[in-house]
Amino acid sequence: MKKCDRCQNREATIVLSDVKQEHLCNLCFNEMVSDEIGVRLEPMPEELEATDYLGTRRIFKVRPQLYPNGIFLEAIEDIAYGYEFAVHGELVCNQTKLVERLIDKVKRGVSTRFIKVGEFPNGQKYQSILDDEVVGRIDYDEMSPSSPMVVIDGKPYTWEQLGKMVKSFEGFQVQMKFFDKTADVE
Ligand SMILES: [Zn+2]
Repeated sequence: MKKCDRCQNREATIVLSDVKQEHLCNLCFNEMVSDEIGVRLEPMPEELEATDYLGTRRIFKVRPQLYPNGIFLEAIEDIAYGYEFAVHGELVCNQTKLVERLIDKVKRGVSTRFIKVGEFPNGQKYQSILDDEVVGRIDYDEMSPSSPMVVIDGKPYTWEQLGKMVKSFEGFQVQMKFFDKTADVE
């Protein structure tokens, strides 16, 4: 873990390379931008929780980021390859409402299920696409850097696993469209 150059305490997650390179934690980055643009981030919850499609409690860390072009709020689940949600607001937006938008997005996101697990008569498990739609997030697959990992229903699927599920749609058309993390995919 690389420590922040300013507070020497928290983990550096942002690298600035203006004049000289500087590694900053999220908090110090926000403070720096805040001083530059004169907008303050209001206190907001550090964690959120939501109940998913199976009734399982999911815990999210809230990460606010202040940029000269707006406020970016992320809810990142506290497990590897879990759910992640994000919203974006103007600098002058109502920050309480922005947090509410994030909470709504998390709740909606975890309540919808796209993949079901079935079982063959011999007990072997298989996954299939529930309806005719999948929404997920493209992530990096450490085990197989040449193909992406897709996180669906808060679980990671390799490109090959997704391919197996897609096989049942042979003969269908497919539309692949990619959305920014803050977009609302309905
Ligand atoms: Zn720091």
